[in-house]
Amino acid sequence: MASAYVLIVEDEDPIAKILEYNFEKEGYRTGIAHDGEEALVMAAEQQPDLVILDWTLPKVTGIEVCRRLRARQASRNIPIIMLTARAEEADLLRGLDQGADDYITKPFSVAAVVARARAVLRRIRPGLTEDLVTIGDIRIDRNAHRVKRGGKDVHLGPTEFRLLDYLMQHPGRVFSREQLLDAVWGSDVYVEVRTVDVHIGRLRRALNVDETGPDPIRTVRAAGYSLDTESMEAAAE
Ligand code: CA
Repeated sequence: MASAYVLIVEDEDPIAKILEYNFEKEGYRTGIAHDGEEALVMAAEQQPDLVILDWTLPKVTGIEVCRRLRARQASRNIPIIMLTARAEEADLLRGLDQGADDYITKPFSVAAVVARARAVLRRIRPGLTEDLVTIGDIRIDRNAHRVKRGGKDVHLGPTEFRLLDYLMQHPGRVFSREQLLDAVWGSDVYVEVRTVDVHIGRLRRALNVDETGPDPIRTVRAAGYSLDTESMEAAAE
């Protein structure tokens, strides 16, 4: 099972530590940032799968961290759960306005935070939390390295499998060819960006098992590729 990386942004050390302990106990990888500035640096160094973000932080406030993460292309879609001691509705709405996915008011139960995080990840990134992932009529078994579409086996080469796996971890999100190269081939390997097109082509051909299904991969002109969640949902109906 892929282990999600949770960035905990919290200046109160005991709270940060207890969150870290509980997320790690549940199999997540964690990082702790003690202020807003550190959070932005850490998020840029290693992209988190989820951010637990305290509202009141030194240097850069939680709300500003949220805004800046949303402004960056790379972190635009990372789920963010805000922790706030302020129960005032206007503040909470402002947080959601700036792109937080959920919020939890302090004092909170740690189990509730972990449960909420799991729910947000499952909703936003179903591919990350399960070995068996189904999107539309495509089903991927990441343990057994098997893929089915509409119940029929799809035979994929290792690169096409990793490509599909990666796209299914981020349904609907558009990736540039360079981003896919880094994620699927690794940033230390020199491969021409056109290679991505070749493997996307193979993946498409392999997935269109009965020739009639909608194309699950959307080509975004001048931008890249994404798993087309709308066509996938239509296919599942
Ligand atoms: Ca705080």
